[in-house]
Amino acid sequence: MDEQKLLGLAREMLPFAYAPYSGYRVGAALLTTDGKVFKGVNVENVSLGLTICAERVALTAAVAAGHRSFSLLAIAAEGESRPLPCGACRQMLLEFSREMKVLVAGEKGEPHVFELKDLLPHPFTL
Ligand SMILES: [Zn+2]
Repeated sequence: MDEQKLLGLAREMLPFAYAPYSGYRVGAALLTTDGKVFKGVNVENVSLGLTICAERVALTAAVAAGHRSFSLLAIAAEGESRPLPCGACRQMLLEFSREMKVLVAGEKGEPHVFELKDLLPHPFTL
């Protein structure tokens, strides 16, 4: 699956985001190394601290289905800013696939592709 198609799947998730507090909807589509796709949206909570990002929703669904190796994550958001993953998501993603690429895109402008290891060059390790 190519980057544009995966980004399209992430954008299709935007209406399902639950973001009544921030109004910032995010969709994610995570591609496994064997070609499966897992999708997620951000799910906010009135306590705010319990909010979970779209990236971790997709990741945890994939892991729960038995997948632990990923090649590409597409993240789409409403608005013009690029939805770079937060630090918690970077650490969670790196646990499984250091070589993953991360594609981010707002509604307008060109998508940008990053290497996950560049987004978190010094992760927590034991
Ligand atoms: Zn996050």
